Amino acid sequence: MKESTIKYGIMGGTFDPIHIGHLVLAEEVRNKLNLDKIIFIPSGNPPHKDSKNVTEPIHRYEMTLLATISNPNFEISSVEIDRTGKTYTVDTIKELRQKCKTNAEFYFITGADSILDLPNWKNVNELLHLCKFVAATRPGFKLKKMEEKIKELEELHNKNIYTIIVTALQISSTDIRNRIRDGHSVKYLLPESVEDYIYKNKLYFKKNYKECW
Ligand code: ATP
Ligand code: MG
Repeated sequence: MKESTIKYGIMGGTFDPIHIGHLVLAEEVRNKLNLDKIIFIPSGNPPHKDSKNVTEPIHRYEMTLLATISNPNFEISSVEIDRTGKTYTVDTIKELRQKCKTNAEFYFITGADSILDLPNWKNVNELLHLCKFVAATRPGFKLKKMEEKIKELEELHNKNIYTIIVTALQISSTDIRNRIRDGHSVKYLLPESVEDYIYKNKLYFKKNYKECW
């Protein structure tokens, strides 16, 4: 009997912290493309971000776990945070392929800003042939611009990229970090369990400093 194929959505991100925008994006893509599971993969040492300014991987992993635990279709992987040095998506997909015992199809989920940046990623051509790519709309990034970039990438690499319109939520981790630093509310922008974790572990607050007189 032929083994059936499991369709996995891969949701990569810094998740510093994970928020409702990430969760809605993952769930809507899962529904629209009929995916079986979504694997959230907190990045290790992302090449596009200054690692000094990124919260320790263990905190980002814990917050991602808290945010996804109640959804039976969401899973989380530590493949990237377990790796030393810079982490590249192409290596992650190869590792997942090796680890996966069943027939699997991978759909890498990205927001509009990430798809616009895709030409700068390592081995884009290989990556586009290792998994299917999903580009989702994100407030602040024009659909037309995203469509033009997708067309360009499709022609260059001879690969189809899915475009998905998701519920527009103008939420970003940067804004959440800034609000916490400035003592403003972040309620309803992220799961309550993640908010509690942030306060308990004093993440994103101004570092204690001594005034110099
Ligand atoms: P930061 O402000 O630190 O860059 P972020 O909110 O952009 O954080 P990331 O962890 O960088 O979150 O994003 C992971 C993925 O989720 C990216 O592909 C990004 O485009 C997508 N994404 C993040 N927030 C949203 C949102 N509100 N709507 C749609 N896509 C989003
Ligand atoms: Mg981002």
